[in-house]
Amino acid sequence: MPGKDIKSMTRDELAGEIASLGLPLFRAGQIFDWLQVRGVTSFDEMTNLSKDLRASLAQRYELRFCEVVRRLESKDDTVKYLFRLIDGECVESVLMHYKYGYTLCVSTQVGCKMGCAFCASTLGGFVRSLTASEILSQIHAAQRDRGVRVSHVVLMGMGEPLDNFDNVMRFLDLVGDEKGLHISMRSISLSTCGLVPRIYDLMDRQYPLTLSISIHAPNDEIRSRIMPVNRRYPIDELLHACRDYADRTGRRISFEYTMIHGVNDSDACARELAGRLRGMLAHVNLIPANEFSESPYARSGADRVERFAEVLRKNGVNATIRRSLGSDIDASCGQLRLHSKKEVDLP
Ligand code: SAH
Repeated sequence: MPGKDIKSMTRDELAGEIASLGLPLFRAGQIFDWLQVRGVTSFDEMTNLSKDLRASLAQRYELRFCEVVRRLESKDDTVKYLFRLIDGECVESVLMHYKYGYTLCVSTQVGCKMGCAFCASTLGGFVRSLTASEILSQIHAAQRDRGVRVSHVVLMGMGEPLDNFDNVMRFLDLVGDEKGLHISMRSISLSTCGLVPRIYDLMDRQYPLTLSISIHAPNDEIRSRIMPVNRRYPIDELLHACRDYADRTGRRISFEYTMIHGVNDSDACARELAGRLRGMLAHVNLIPANEFSESPYARSGADRVERFAEVLRKNGVNATIRRSLGSDIDASCGQLRLHSKKEVDLP
């Protein structure tokens, strides 16, 4: 019977646990530091605790962590990881080096239920959600592997973060804790395919993070074809929630638009999208679709992407084209797990 997941406990919860064992409060502080800042992978590494205490913690609690299974390094200093979790399941993370520091793209689920037609993460179906500790552990494992400090986090890896709401909120509380990794909410982006009720739940938290919406189409006809979630929460409802979010939080929404050849990349699509977004505190990020062998879709050409951006701008909408990092290492999410499965028969 595995014990409680100690690394998912908030500082207060851990203090309560440690008090219930009859230990002094400073022990909770030491343990929190080992777990959250140093990201140890065993109680034995907690060298300022007695051997007995380490052993009794190990008996009582479960310590979740990530192990590097594969590491792909790109020429542009992007590193893609395949991490193994303690039950043998695997997730991907991507470490990107920008002028302002290191950003880690983390996964929130093993697989995904959302079924977007162009996405590799969804192909093997949904396996399970990650715990807060497992989302954190991706940061710890990448930091340890490279000897760097991650300053920015994007929840844009495998899985739908708002479909794992409670654990993701717990992760945000832990990663922002001043005694933990202390990563500012302003340095965190959360990307969703558009689970409208959960967008309102997130709004209630008033976190100053950046909300990214995977919009990918200007109307229900195209969006429902490539994103099944749109049949449940159509584009008007989604954009209504986005307007409320921007109004309530004062934060600009970032819209992700994956450009797929012949599907959503016409001038008419750009004009229609601009019409829908006009007047909103918004920004559109255009991403040429990543191709992979199981996908029937091709990416839009560079000229088409430029032209699409221009039409958006002419129609009053902020737009940029995402610089693609790590394209030589299949860096987009879901592909490494998918392909490793075939090669080495991972679980
Ligand atoms: N489930 C969340 C976050 C994970 S995906 C979401 O949907 O936002 C991160 C981003 O990558 C999303 O915008 C997703 O639509 C996009 N994406 C998925 N597959 C892609 C592909 N093959 N090419 C380009 N972008 C892709």
